[in-house]
Amino acid sequence: MATGSINVSADNIFPLIKKFLYSDHEVFLRELISNATDATLKLHHLVRIGEIKTDIGEPKIEVKIDKENKKIHVIDQGVGMTQEEVKKYINEVAFSGAEEFLEKYKDKDAKDAGIIGHFGLGFYSAFMVAHKVEIFTKSWKDEPAAHWTCEGTTEFTLEEADKQDRGTEIVLHINDDDKEFLEDNRISELLTKYNKFMPVPIKFGTKEKELPKADDAKEDEQPKKVEVDNIINNPDPAWTKQPSDLEDKDYKDFYRELYPMQFEEPLFHIHLNVDYPFNLTGILYFPKITQDMSIQKDKIQLYQNQVFVTDNVEGIVPEFLTMLRGVIDSPDIPLNVSRSYLQADSAVKKISNYITKKVADKLNSLFKNNREDFQKKWDDIKVVIEYGMLTDDKFFEKAQKFNLFPTTDGEYLTYDELEAKVKDVQTDKDDKLIILYASNKEAQHPYIKAAKDKGYEVLLLDSPIVSHLIQKLETEKENKVSFVRVDGDHVDNLIKKGEDIESALSDEDKDKLKENVENVVPTETYTVQMEAMSSDAAPMMITQPEFMRRMKEMQQTGGGMGMMGNMPENYNLVVNTNHPLINEIANTKTQKKRERLIKQSMDLARLSQGLLKGEDLTNFVNRSFDMIK
Ligand code: ADP
Ligand code: MG
Repeated sequence: MATGSINVSADNIFPLIKKFLYSDHEVFLRELISNATDATLKLHHLVRIGEIKTDIGEPKIEVKIDKENKKIHVIDQGVGMTQEEVKKYINEVAFSGAEEFLEKYKDKDAKDAGIIGHFGLGFYSAFMVAHKVEIFTKSWKDEPAAHWTCEGTTEFTLEEADKQDRGTEIVLHINDDDKEFLEDNRISELLTKYNKFMPVPIKFGTKEKELPKADDAKEDEQPKKVEVDNIINNPDPAWTKQPSDLEDKDYKDFYRELYPMQFEEPLFHIHLNVDYPFNLTGILYFPKITQDMSIQKDKIQLYQNQVFVTDNVEGIVPEFLTMLRGVIDSPDIPLNVSRSYLQADSAVKKISNYITKKVADKLNSLFKNNREDFQKKWDDIKVVIEYGMLTDDKFFEKAQKFNLFPTTDGEYLTYDELEAKVKDVQTDKDDKLIILYASNKEAQHPYIKAAKDKGYEVLLLDSPIVSHLIQKLETEKENKVSFVRVDGDHVDNLIKKGEDIESALSDEDKDKLKENVENVVPTETYTVQMEAMSSDAAPMMITQPEFMRRMKEMQQTGGGMGMMGNMPENYNLVVNTNHPLINEIANTKTQKKRERLIKQSMDLARLSQGLLKGEDLTNFVNRSFDMIK
């Protein structure tokens, strides 16, 4: 779009409309069908209040393509317009609407504007695809029909027409540049995208329907077929109904209607329904959420009064819930504004808070009413919950009741239950509660076993953002609680109880041994640490300090400290000075034999951490065979 001041006067409005929102040309159809819907709903209203007493039948909307003459017809059986009304609503109201719209957005880049391009241009958006537009309309009032024609200039003609039946027919003479809209497939696609749930039946062509066979029909008789209207929409989608009128099956059927290509069933749904202080209806579904969070967004559809608006609900739905699926419908969301404005808008904030609260309430009631089932679904929903706890403080608070900590034994505990269970055994000498966890049951098996043998509980926390979450939990608990991964240190050191074990080696021997070990192991990766532990603990083990590891993980999943991710892997090699083997190494006088023992012990320690690979692994295997032969 050009910048500067374009004087949007009647003379240049048509060229502008044609150019405006180039990529959004397709919205013309939605605008015309919206108008046809409005006219039909007005008619129903007039019947309801007794203004109209005659039988109105079952008004529908029809879209017809006349390929040969390059025309599209949009026909409704709504209230229609008298000549006077055409003058007023089309020449003045609709026109000023279009003018105002263009005036407002003439300086803005259509792409930047996000939702802009939806709504506002109204009737005149027809000129984005047509060089000539005709209206044939007959009011429900007893007055002659009208015929309005306009060829994209400020000139129009308005005359009487002989249309007999009530309603409006809009005829678009399609531009050569827009002939894609004369294709059945293209129109079908648009109708499905924007009008799938509009409240008035929309006919597009016909289709064949098989009649049920008569009772006395022969086996091989072909079923009879009849031509019926092809109605492209469902005028009563589930979200417009009362939750009490819907069964679980209805919700599942509606999910399939929304996502025909989705074979997996949703885990559960949340029906949204408020009319004060804002109006919002909708149904959200929890699908199975996999570890890859990025691919699951943009599945929630936003509607206004059953007209599709967008599937980008950023700013309206809290970010962590954009992983859900479903529909929200609210006439109260301002649409022709930019996204940054949307996020600051207080009505939108209220909507976003309401959705968060409803989701939290639903999770809480699922947990309370059927904990077993909730636990079964935990692995499929935890990412949403954990992500919500991280990004939304109100949700964090509410989630305390239903956020679960699975143990490596398959138990699921709330934080309070967990604390009660472990606090006697796992409080350290500084009165800090140490919560142990593993991220992989297989890879960390030796560490998990060692911790359990000591009577500790070990959690299994394996979602991608867990390091961020435990960081937050520790802060919330004012650092009276520490989460430590089981391989963060030797089990004797995980929870320091202040009972020092005496070393079997003298300080002098210890220093000597340390030097010998450092000569053999790659010290750029391993920091050698001499520790007096119980004699039945492993002679050597490899640990990775909690802080370093967690910072690295946080960096990889976003946030955390920038520099950590690029640091080389770093481990501690813990040497147990009370182990008989270590004593033997310390007392071995021949250098060659000593080095071999150190290497072998070190490699065993690496093996149990899954760190022994490549040439080192080959050497280890060969050395081991040598030793036992
Ligand atoms: P809006 O729908 O926001 O009012 P439009 O530019 O789409 O703006 O339409 C302008 C007016 O023209 C409508 O308010 C309505 O009064 C009239 N109108 C448009 N289409 C129809 C129709 N199919 N039947 C009856 N009236 C119509
Ligand atoms: Mg309109």
